[in-house]
Amino acid sequence: MTKSAESSFEPSQGEPIPAQPKVDLFSLTLPDLQKFLVEELGEKPFRAKQIYAWLHQKGLTDFDQMTDLSKALRQKLKERTDFKPLTKDLEQRSVDGTIKYRWRTFDGRFIESVYMPSPDRRTLCVSTQVGCAMGCTFCATGRLGLARNLTPGEIVAQVHAVNREIRINEGISGTFRPLTNLVFMGMGEPLHNFENLKKALTILQSKEGPNFSARHITVSTVGLVPMIERFGKETEVKLAISLNATTDEQRSRSMPVNRKWNIAALMEAVRKFPLRYGRRVTFEYVLLKGFNDSDEDARRLIDLIRGLPAKVNLIPYNENAGLGYHTVPDERAQQFRELLLKGGVDAFIRENRGRDIAAACGQLANVDKRPPPARGSTQPAVLS
Ligand code: SF4
Repeated sequence: MTKSAESSFEPSQGEPIPAQPKVDLFSLTLPDLQKFLVEELGEKPFRAKQIYAWLHQKGLTDFDQMTDLSKALRQKLKERTDFKPLTKDLEQRSVDGTIKYRWRTFDGRFIESVYMPSPDRRTLCVSTQVGCAMGCTFCATGRLGLARNLTPGEIVAQVHAVNREIRINEGISGTFRPLTNLVFMGMGEPLHNFENLKKALTILQSKEGPNFSARHITVSTVGLVPMIERFGKETEVKLAISLNATTDEQRSRSMPVNRKWNIAALMEAVRKFPLRYGRRVTFEYVLLKGFNDSDEDARRLIDLIRGLPAKVNLIPYNENAGLGYHTVPDERAQQFRELLLKGGVDAFIRENRGRDIAAACGQLANVDKRPPPARGSTQPAVLS
């Protein structure tokens, strides 16, 4: 036997075995988690419910606090899973009680969520993307462009983090979930990140998790027509359409998505949308002075909506410097509403929350008017 043949029997000193990729635990639905535990970790299926409750009812991510799990399982979870934490970067409070939270993501990006308390509900406006690709010309987020989609876990983590903030702020003990309503109207176009949105909704609605009712969740879209059909078939939550114009010429100028799917295509998709019993579609209509607030606009809006179980939310515009649009006076918003009501369309002027902290509709752009924090002064992590 030659020397080289001999050496081929020596134990290999070569390539290290690559580490298995870690699983993003927070993004798993309950069936996903069960599959992972059984197939990858060799655990019993019932463990999934225990872990899921720690994560999504108690909002805990520290395995050492999951006291009903064995030490061996906790160790396996530490080795094979991770989280995409959100860290509170900034909190701004409006005079009207609205609180805007800015979160830093695991990869150093920023997203925002807006908490809007009112006497009968506690609503969170949730983001689904870092930035947005839709480029609506009246919207500050649209100027950022799209950096990336949020994971299901990052969408859910906003809800858990704000629940925890409210508990701390209001001295609520235990694991009570203070938030009652969720609106997906923050940064990003939710249907442009549909798979992750759907998973996040499954987690948020699960009885073994936060258990939000579908009736208390609204998703708003600019009108990605093929996705509206899927959204109707694959989820049970409420639909809002961000319409904001009554002619294609107007809408294509302010909302580039209209060049691909025009108003007729959008309204056809809405008419086919499988509305559940007693529900209505909400049309969001940002009133832009001299652009879409004429009597003619009101008449066209009535014609577009005629026959649909729908309501219109009129949203007084929040001016963003440099975008070239202006707020309508209150009297004009009232007149516009009156015209819709006379035409048989249920219309409301939406209270504009958090204007003074740039937390209102179309203003989420990670704008921080404070001086930058000193090094090392970052606020504590809320989910890590
Ligand atoms: S209005 Fe919504 S869809 Fe349009 S750019 Fe802003 S965040 Fe994106």
